[in-house]
Amino acid sequence: MNKISNTDTVYLDNDDVYINGVNYKINVYFMNRKTITGSVEDDKIIIKIPVYFSKEQKIKYYAKLREKLIKRIIDGKFYKTLNFFNNEEIIIMGKPIKISALFDSKIKRTSINFNGNLLSLKIPIKYKDTENEYIDKIVKKFLSKWAYPILKDRIEFLNDRFFRFRINQIIIYGPKKTILGSCNYKDKKIYLNLRSLFAPSDMLDSVIIHELAHLKYPNHSKKFWNLVLSVMPDYKTRKKWLNRNIYNLGLPIKN
Ligand SMILES: [Zn+2]
Repeated sequence: MNKISNTDTVYLDNDDVYINGVNYKINVYFMNRKTITGSVEDDKIIIKIPVYFSKEQKIKYYAKLREKLIKRIIDGKFYKTLNFFNNEEIIIMGKPIKISALFDSKIKRTSINFNGNLLSLKIPIKYKDTENEYIDKIVKKFLSKWAYPILKDRIEFLNDRFFRFRINQIIIYGPKKTILGSCNYKDKKIYLNLRSLFAPSDMLDSVIIHELAHLKYPNHSKKFWNLVLSVMPDYKTRKKWLNRNIYNLGLPIKN
């Protein structure tokens, strides 16, 4: 990946943009690719431009995409990195869960207790200085381990009930990646983002049904949609909810 060079900065504005109190740094890369693409990641705007575009093309498409990405930020339509902090409340499969950490000078190892609505951590005092990073790391590790059998069971349950397709492997990934689910039709693999755990169960099911249906039809053909709708007639209503809320899944509840 080539970072913007000095000669390029002359005609491409790689300045920061200031939106709603946050400074977003624009990072431009010239790459060996066919189309221009961009994304917003926390406080970074990333724009990738085909290296062989003419100077005029670079300027034109950059300006267009820059506007589009700024609008996306203003509308809040971008994925934020998930971080878990002490005393925050998050929603897992529709249920509010509070994170509560206690520091103890008498213990050597961290212990976690999850009773369904309280995730309580007991942490050795030595981690107090790096409290935020430590709690975030521990909660993420715990959640991905805890969620794996739950998500796997749900996928298998829905498959047994509606499809009985062959599944070779279920892979839970993320939540750094942005796509909630995907399917490898050829290898019969189902991928599910840990981020989907933060959606209400009905919405999680709609993601799973979509991916399972791809085990039979790899494309979004009429047959594919007929299959989805035959087992989940209100799929579109659920999808609408997801489209509206997808960028906030897993973020702490603001009180
Ligand atoms: Zn699809």
